[in-house]
Amino acid sequence: MKAAILYGAHDFRIEEIETPSINDDQCLVDVKACGVCHSEIHQWEKTLDGLEYPRFIGHEIAGIIKATGKNISEFNVGDRVAVWTDGTGYAEQAAVDSRFIFKLNDEISFAEALAEPIGCTTNGVLKAGLELDQTVALVGTGFMGLIMIQELKLMGLKKIIAIDVRKEMLDLAEKLSADVVLNPLKEDANAAIKNLTNGKGVDAAFEVGGNEKTLNMAANITRMEGKLVIFGFHPGARKIDDLGYWNWMAFDIVNAHFRNVDTIYKGTKIGMNLLNDRKINMKPLVTHSFELKEIEKAFEAANTKPEGFVKAVIVNE
Ligand SMILES: [Zn+2]
Repeated sequence: MKAAILYGAHDFRIEEIETPSINDDQCLVDVKACGVCHSEIHQWEKTLDGLEYPRFIGHEIAGIIKATGKNISEFNVGDRVAVWTDGTGYAEQAAVDSRFIFKLNDEISFAEALAEPIGCTTNGVLKAGLELDQTVALVGTGFMGLIMIQELKLMGLKKIIAIDVRKEMLDLAEKLSADVVLNPLKEDANAAIKNLTNGKGVDAAFEVGGNEKTLNMAANITRMEGKLVIFGFHPGARKIDDLGYWNWMAFDIVNAHFRNVDTIYKGTKIGMNLLNDRKINMKPLVTHSFELKEIEKAFEAANTKPEGFVKAVIVNE
């Protein structure tokens, strides 16, 4: 089969490799789509130390079951599925553990069925432990933020505020049910939020952008004893403007990242149910698709975010 192997910075090579064999608890999946994850950009840019190359990555897989291991009874050849996995997705086929395979309804396209990010956002929203009638802000409404807005809406919150510097993202956020959208390049978002919350700040701020600016902004708009939910992916050091302020404000700091596989399974299962039930809409979020041989272009797009870009997906016909 064909696979895209990452040899170094901006150096994916399409290679002919052996189709993976499966053990008794695995299925072989014909990969129809694999999302390009923001967390992979650093690997592609080779900016993180300690990673070995060449690397065989790609973890947001959807496709069709091609073969099942001896112990598998819940899946059949031909089933349309989404998969949570930790790599080997940029290929024509992948061997995956059946425990992390989720069936897809016929009307859900493969490119929309990105199990890993949907699992992450679902767990992030659940871990925040929000209550009805609270006001929540998301700082950074790219792909992950736009899924989270929809999930937060399902929770019956009082107000959802979307903050981003890209107008197209705010337009989408509004369409996907944000109550208020703010662009800090065009207005004083901090002041606007104080206005909306009687001077107090939001009950919970989700830091989604994964950079220093979004982290510090999330702290600045959260009320005393409110929840500061760090959801963004932060590889490496970050400078906090004023930890004394974080102390004084008595923030409840939630690290919305997950490593326990049982938790990952639970969040992904719930998220995939929401997708199958059409409670979350991934269609407007999958904006750029590429063939496997165009994977360098896909990463370029994910890195530079051309106008209208939300998410790149590798699609195998
Ligand atoms: Zn991912």
